[in-house]
Amino acid sequence: MDRRSFLKTSSAIMGGLAVNSLFNQAVAETKTQFLLDAQHPLLLNFNENSLGMSPKAKDAVIAALPSSFRYPDDARADLIAALGKHYALTDKHVTLGNGSSETIQAAVAMLAAKARQQNQGLQLITPDPTFNYAELYTQSFAGKITKVPLKEDLSFDLKKMEQLADEFDGLSIIYICNPNNPTAMITPASELSEWMHKSSDKQFFIVDEAYAEFVEDPKFISAIELVKQGKNNLVVTRTFSKIFALAGLRVGYGIATPEVIAAIDAFLPLDNTNTAGAVAALASLQDKSFIAYSLKSNNLSRKIVETALDELGITYAPSQANFIFHKVKGDVKTYQKRMADAHIMVGREFPPAMGWSRLTLGTPEEMEQFVIVLKQFREKGWV
Ligand code: PLP
Repeated sequence: MDRRSFLKTSSAIMGGLAVNSLFNQAVAETKTQFLLDAQHPLLLNFNENSLGMSPKAKDAVIAALPSSFRYPDDARADLIAALGKHYALTDKHVTLGNGSSETIQAAVAMLAAKARQQNQGLQLITPDPTFNYAELYTQSFAGKITKVPLKEDLSFDLKKMEQLADEFDGLSIIYICNPNNPTAMITPASELSEWMHKSSDKQFFIVDEAYAEFVEDPKFISAIELVKQGKNNLVVTRTFSKIFALAGLRVGYGIATPEVIAAIDAFLPLDNTNTAGAVAALASLQDKSFIAYSLKSNNLSRKIVETALDELGITYAPSQANFIFHKVKGDVKTYQKRMADAHIMVGREFPPAMGWSRLTLGTPEEMEQFVIVLKQFREKGWV
């Protein structure tokens, strides 16, 4: 059974039809397809999308190569226009990045310059643990880093973050990763928008929605809604690296009001997206069946892992992304090393959340392999 027909079977599962036997049959048929060795490890450590890109994206890259001796202006403009339209906004609401990392970097640079011009201090308020690029970039501008530990249930302590922003005499950048990396948990829109609505112009939000396309929980609403309402103290960052599987082509973007976009663009190189990335991103955005396929595959992979974790009694956080944060018995480094010895690369520990491992959800077949090894670890008393 190839991947697509496997996933067709799985779509019946996702639709809630005759469940377990179909599921087991599909999974059993794929079990023998794998060779795991040092040259062919399972890469479940960087939250990439193992499906690979949409065939339409590949075709678009091939078609664009002959004219790639030209600068990428047209390809960039087409993508910007398509993104503006996609969100029922305009091209002035969009900034492209060499990955969303660059958009985050440019937003931090813009805010650092603003603080300097106004003779104000700069701080980043960030949950801990979370994706740390905003922290790294703020450090490079000598900004103060204020980390707020996650609550016991791994949710963000927004009240504490708000209090610290209010108390700071200067400009605060508030980094909100939603869903959060490494927990894969969402922050409900109701909690976020309440704060954003009463925030002052000394508080600027970078809302990182790198994994938003994987979310199915209705409590999540994109902060792009706040941009639509004209909020001028935020940028929402998104990426083609995750659900669209274009991590190596480096395309990300930010959505904000035209005023904020112009301010961020001033800190970006003019041609920061290459032609291949831009045409692949445009084709991917338009390929609705690939997006649905990618989502279904991820949901099935998550189900496979959650079923195994439940069976083994291993605690995990409710995932709304393409990775899952689960408890590990004993030392995470040892667990990681043992998995690597079995040719499976899993994510590292994210202090201060000790005893948890972040596992990227690869293809369903890959996750079946992971489960086999995890169960062997249980037999050895390692998990
Ligand atoms: N934001 C989050 C939360 C991430 O986890 C990542 C990458 O893993 C990124 C941003 C960066 O993505 P990219 O620069 O590939 O768009």
